[in-house]
Amino acid sequence: MDLTLTPEQQAFRDEVRTWLRKNLPQEWTSRVVAGPDVPRPEFYGFLREWQRKLHEAGLLGLTWPKEYGGRGLTFMEELILHQELALAKAPPILNILGIGMAGPTIIAYGTEEQKKRYLAKILSCEEIWCQGYSEPNAGSDLASLQTKAARDGDSFIVNGQKVWTSVAHVSDWMMLLARTDPGAERHKGITYFLLDMHSPGVTVRPLRQLTGDAEFNEVFFENVRVPAENILGGLNNGWQVGITTLMYERLALGFGLQVRMRIALDALIELAKRTKKNGESATQDPLIRQKLAQLWIDTEVFRYTGARAVTKLLKGELPGPEASTGKIWWCDTHQRLQDLAMEIQGPYQQLTKGSDWAVEHGIWQYTFLRSRANSVEGGTTEIQRNIIGERVLGLPKG
Ligand SMILES: Cc1cc2nc3c(=O)[nH]c(=O)nc-3n(C[C@H](O)[C@H](O)[C@H](O)COP(=O)(O)OP(=O)(O)OC[C@H]3O[C@@H](n4cnc5c(N)ncnc54)[C@H](O)[C@@H]3O)c2cc1C
Repeated sequence: MDLTLTPEQQAFRDEVRTWLRKNLPQEWTSRVVAGPDVPRPEFYGFLREWQRKLHEAGLLGLTWPKEYGGRGLTFMEELILHQELALAKAPPILNILGIGMAGPTIIAYGTEEQKKRYLAKILSCEEIWCQGYSEPNAGSDLASLQTKAARDGDSFIVNGQKVWTSVAHVSDWMMLLARTDPGAERHKGITYFLLDMHSPGVTVRPLRQLTGDAEFNEVFFENVRVPAENILGGLNNGWQVGITTLMYERLALGFGLQVRMRIALDALIELAKRTKKNGESATQDPLIRQKLAQLWIDTEVFRYTGARAVTKLLKGELPGPEASTGKIWWCDTHQRLQDLAMEIQGPYQQLTKGSDWAVEHGIWQYTFLRSRANSVEGGTTEIQRNIIGERVLGLPKG
């Protein structure tokens, strides 16, 4: 891929850079200097406002059609935007599942009414989305899902349970996969619904994680009525639509995680510079220097793997197994980055938020614990390896 910017792309980069310089909230930049960030519940209000401002500036939904609030640009501009967000250490996007997954799937499969109804409110963060795929007995093997939707006149009645549903506790809508034809083959009797999370019969119960936060939830459906017009992509066609969402998920992850990893690495380098070991800066320790340099190399590799996916998109092709390669690479690199943050802190690594002596208010302890989920969320490392085994190496199906 030729990463040299055209004059139009340079102008776009300058537009983003200038806007960020003028609009990046001061309270955020001073906080980020103290460590990396993830969307924590105490920042939801702030992040809603941040997303609204980005949208008003025309910096969200860059590749979406103009008539639905996007800018009709290419994935090259999307790449430029994310690089600039990383350089500026910008806050994360709160409605990332809406922008990265629900929106593109609605653009691909939605009726005109659905596009008009949902897309603009995704961009402006007026309506937050979650993803209702996983169930207690259907994670990696998603086609085993048991949540049912039975026809009743112009509606469907949904009963069942989802689990690990991120941000369901603040979501207005869910991308729901439910079984509509129990007699059909596993992959065939599934339908993709746009489910109003405020409907009677929806119960959201938070699940507390290792970090202490309750970022994801169990969601129960008891006779929840969903209008048939909320089907996306046709009755019993949910597997195909659902896979499209997953494809966009890997793409969005690729863009978003690249930004977050670069910000985390820069913060780690600053932490190493400030930390004293035996009277010297930790950056004098040859082993820590080696590990930091390797992390920088691996972060760049991740960036270029993302660029390969963009090259395919620009040629009108769909990203292939490089998305799985990128997921594994990101997970391994990010977990090593967090391990190194603990190593640099020495015995202080034991102290968490709330202790007067915790380094940088314990933010690294939080991100270290949070990084353990990386090898599970968005498809486990084993499943990504299976994809590479089958699609790249031509191994028989597992
Ligand atoms: C932080 C976080 C956020 C999440 N957010 C969401 C969300 O918003 N919406 C949603 O729907 N889901 C979400 N998930 C769920 C996630 O997608 C699932 O946890 C994941 O797909 C694995 O499914 P499982 O937990 O049922 O594990 P299982 O599928 O039961 O897997 C258990 C273990 O067996 C291994 N395994 C399974 N099958 C194979 C195989 N064929 N070959 C080799 N190894 C195998 C797995 O790799 C894993 O190590 C989230 C998970 C996390 C951790």
